Amino acid sequence: GGGRGCVTLGGAQIRDLLDAKHNVLFDCDGVIWNGETAVSGAPEVVSLLKQRGKRVFFVTNNCTRPRENYVQKFSRLGFTDVAEEEIFSSAYCSAAYLRDVARLQGKVYVIGCGGVMKELRDAGVPVVEEEEDAEPGASIYNCPLDPDVKAVLVGYDENFTFMKLAKACCYLRNSECLFLATDPDPWHPLRGGRITPGSGSLTAALETASSRKATVIGKPSRFMFECIASQFDLDPTRSLMIGDRLETDILFGSNCGLATMLTLTGVSTLEEALAYRDSQEPQQKDCAPDYVVESVADFLQALDD
Ligand code: PLP
Ligand code: CA
Repeated sequence: GGGRGCVTLGGAQIRDLLDAKHNVLFDCDGVIWNGETAVSGAPEVVSLLKQRGKRVFFVTNNCTRPRENYVQKFSRLGFTDVAEEEIFSSAYCSAAYLRDVARLQGKVYVIGCGGVMKELRDAGVPVVEEEEDAEPGASIYNCPLDPDVKAVLVGYDENFTFMKLAKACCYLRNSECLFLATDPDPWHPLRGGRITPGSGSLTAALETASSRKATVIGKPSRFMFECIASQFDLDPTRSLMIGDRLETDILFGSNCGLATMLTLTGVSTLEEALAYRDSQEPQQKDCAPDYVVESVADFLQALDD
């Protein structure tokens, strides 16, 4: 890698870097798109990388869509050659974890949205269904608790309620009940300068209520890389992680032994990257990227020939 030195790369240096790498992992929001708008040049960059024989993967902490729904979003935004198998979301990986690692014998209580539910069902992981959950007239004193629940999974949930929090912390009283979080993201940018609280903020509420710590599945946890590596033969030293958030994407790359690159089209700034680089704390240094570019569009100069 570049030693977490936040080195700004131009076209010729990007070309050298790409010569040394076979796999490129892209974060989604803030790197290849912002909400429903593609980052200018990003679809061309993805196509050209593939034409040059690179393997491309997409690694997103956004758990709100199932994989097949992402395929539609990619094509809607002009990414014409992205396959479902290349998309790794925190919802897909959470389902894989419960099925293949935890080998859950029981149900999952989900605080989350349709994307998480769909991935769990597709993976054959039993969930507490929402109808069972929303009994009319139920209160924290009498709401039914399912005795088969063996895991609580928290993701982004715009219908988060006190009742869901109350149920989840009852389930977590059982120390054998797993406590998982799709991702630790604190907030996300919306259009017009607004933000929305991320699943990390909901997980924090449940961590306080339960006096427990969640196991994080999404970035910066290594599990997402293990999930990709279990399906594709990936050499970390020949892989580049490109992201816009230092505490998730760049730390994820560092945790997995990947070269890391920050793009400035999303959440984090160059100043924040330099502050991590110059920090004395090893943990903080791991949030500093090897490389910085303004935008993935800077790859176009490296790829045109
Ligand atoms: N989770 C939610 C609900 C989001 O809206 C977003 C970004 O918009 C993310 C996670 C972060 O996604 P990514 O990891 O692709 O930046
Ligand atoms: Ca991002």
